[in-house]
Amino acid sequence: MKNNLKKIAIVAMVAVVIAACKKNQESITESQETVKNSDKVLQYIKDLGFPAASIVDNGNEFIVEEDITFPKNMEIPANGAGAKTEQYYTGSIVNSTKKLNIRIFVDPSMTSMGSEINSAIAQWNGVPNSTLRFSVVTTAPYDILIKDENLGNGVCGQGQFPSGGSAGALVKINKNYIAGNSFAQRARTICHEFGHCISFRHTNWSAQGESTATNVPGVTGTDALSLMNGGQCGSGATVLSTKDKNAVAALY
Ligand SMILES: [Zn+2]
Repeated sequence: MKNNLKKIAIVAMVAVVIAACKKNQESITESQETVKNSDKVLQYIKDLGFPAASIVDNGNEFIVEEDITFPKNMEIPANGAGAKTEQYYTGSIVNSTKKLNIRIFVDPSMTSMGSEINSAIAQWNGVPNSTLRFSVVTTAPYDILIKDENLGNGVCGQGQFPSGGSAGALVKINKNYIAGNSFAQRARTICHEFGHCISFRHTNWSAQGESTATNVPGVTGTDALSLMNGGQCGSGATVLSTKDKNAVAALY
């Protein structure tokens, strides 16, 4: 009897050890997959034409040109980044259902800039011949989280590109840093980051050192008035230009 108990105890212990090994193996596989996907994301960023020198590894995301973030676990658009089709976009947009109501959740850290957020939304929603609409929701589910984060000196905000047909999911605003800017400039920062969330790249991409970008069909050339020009934190255009609006109408 005693012997039997001992046997059972040994069997149980062996089972626990096997289970523990399995668990370890699973977590190793998981982290390898994460690494693999981050390699794909890195390649995607390069394929989009962003210079390698402008890509910053920031833990669970890459940052490009200081204000565009790519989560390392993001879904890579199926058609990749190849130039296909200036306003410029990633070639991958918010799908035809989701574009009708892109839900923004305002983190408590950003409610003090609610008026600026509403102003930014009104600009995108007011584009003629476009069915793209943003709205603010106060509960989940939502498509974009906008929150305050200290991004250091010189960076007003950060946005993400769409993936899997959904809008870029996260906008970070350097709230203290832009607090001293005019209302129009604060709203511009937010409007600009939302522009990334719906696929717009920097209209002045070439001047930013990028090697390639995908034209919005029918809307070509540089545009000094574009709200989507990059590197203009606190000084750029505060209203969508005619070409910005034409680009929205062309895609949405
Ligand atoms: Zn930008």
